Amino acid sequence: MQIDEIALKPDLIALLGEKKCCFSLEDRWTYSFDASKERGVPDAVVFPSCSRDVCAIMGYAHGNKIPVVPRGAGSGLTGGAVPLNGGIVMVLERMNRILELDTKNLCAVVETGVITADLQTAAARENLFYPPDPASQAFSTIGGNIAENAGGMRGAKYGVTKQYVLGLEVVLPNGDLVTLGSKCIKDVVGYSMTELFVGSEGTFGIITKAILKLVTRPETVKTLAICFSSIQDAGGAVPLLLKSGVVPCTLEFIDAACLQAVLARGIGDELEQQIHGDTKAMLLIEVDGSAHEVERDAAMVLKICKESGMLSCRLARDPDERERLWQVRRSIHGALMGLCPQWLEEDISVPPASIPMMLDKLQRLAGAKNLRILCFGHYADGNIHLSVSEADAPLTPQQALVVKKEIFSETVKLGGRIAAEHGIGSVKKEYLGFNLDEPTLNLAMGVKKMLDPRGILNPGKIFPQQIWDKGYGSD
Ligand SMILES: Cc1cc2nc3c(=O)[nH]c(=O)nc-3n(C[C@H](O)[C@H](O)[C@H](O)COP(=O)(O)OP(=O)(O)OC[C@H]3O[C@@H](n4cnc5c(N)ncnc54)[C@H](O)[C@@H]3O)c2cc1C
Repeated sequence: MQIDEIALKPDLIALLGEKKCCFSLEDRWTYSFDASKERGVPDAVVFPSCSRDVCAIMGYAHGNKIPVVPRGAGSGLTGGAVPLNGGIVMVLERMNRILELDTKNLCAVVETGVITADLQTAAARENLFYPPDPASQAFSTIGGNIAENAGGMRGAKYGVTKQYVLGLEVVLPNGDLVTLGSKCIKDVVGYSMTELFVGSEGTFGIITKAILKLVTRPETVKTLAICFSSIQDAGGAVPLLLKSGVVPCTLEFIDAACLQAVLARGIGDELEQQIHGDTKAMLLIEVDGSAHEVERDAAMVLKICKESGMLSCRLARDPDERERLWQVRRSIHGALMGLCPQWLEEDISVPPASIPMMLDKLQRLAGAKNLRILCFGHYADGNIHLSVSEADAPLTPQQALVVKKEIFSETVKLGGRIAAEHGIGSVKKEYLGFNLDEPTLNLAMGVKKMLDPRGILNPGKIFPQQIWDKGYGSD
């Protein structure tokens, strides 16, 4: 059945009421994109306010074979929340209640439309800490973070979202509601299915509630911005640091071009005066813990960086200065967009010790093809974010394709992965073969078909078209 043969508007209004549905072109257009360049206009947008609403929509969509695309804040960078095949966009933003902050068991129970930063603020009020901190935390949702297994700056010490998900409530594509996991730290009842939904990019089920682990808030932090004359020098410091027993909470790197792009926008003025003229790479290192541990660790960081050829160091003197240093890091994406809105942007990971080698390969590629390649990322996680253009213009789509394949192929040669924390979505699905062989892709399709036999939940994402057609047929 075609969507226009179904009475979508009256049916959805009957299920949810008028205030939870939008059908005007303006409203539908508003939900036709995320933070990627992908576009697709839905037939309807719905705003459920409880799990019951979600079950009703999914039961209806399953019965009528209508595509449904879950959406949090739409900050995804790989097209995950874009309705490429039309259908219904389901926006979870009204399911934004923190249901419980359990200070005795150190966990929170939340609806998944909660904004990441709101959970962090609520936890901090109880002297607790929710560590995952994607740079989009001010607007991204917990549901989007879980669906993408989002990482962040604090990954060096605290890991990524999956390490904090104890349990989930999920509405399956046929409208059934399941609860997975629990508040128990030890729980081997049945298969461990919670993890299956973490990083599933809205293709296995709609995550409606989550039990999230919290930790105690570190007493204090120290933040250091350290300049080096080469990424090799910066890279030399990292293994020494990690071997020294210091576990930095963040260990970010920024190349000179990214740094200049941010400073040119007037962000980080004070830092600019401290930056040595020969700087080619900066490490932004934060250590947290008790006051004593932090003093000791910061001194060790400084010692090792000095021995590794540090040019200069800026130590944040107070919380405001610390925030301004982080502002530099968080502003990179926006500053690069200001330079050239049409970058080819990639998010790759390699074993951390291979970062200098990968950056070297990228600079060689830039030289050979007259490209600009700007890099920053999470050093300890081996995660490089890179933006590519021609020296004086955006890449043509054909050039972008060639460059992308070359970057992925170099990544794989170093044992790396083509997606680190921004997911596959629609943007990278045809490149999955760089990391996954056909039997693995067939296995993933088998799981998808079992959970979503009609292929209605977020179609057009993750799976290469050929694998999708093999699983669901090509019509
Ligand atoms: C400036 C900027 C900085 C960023 N920095 C980081 C970073 O540091 N680390 C990082 O990992 N990412 C980062 N991102 C990417 C993005 O913010 C994250 O992927 C984030 O987790 C997406 O959350 P969202 O609520 O916006 O999800 P959306 O973009 O709305 O959706 C993302 C995916 O999750 C699915 N989804 C959303 N909610 C649900 C749900 N309740 N149930 C099932 N599926 C769901 C969607 O279908 C889609 O596939 C950044 C993006 C921007 C624009």
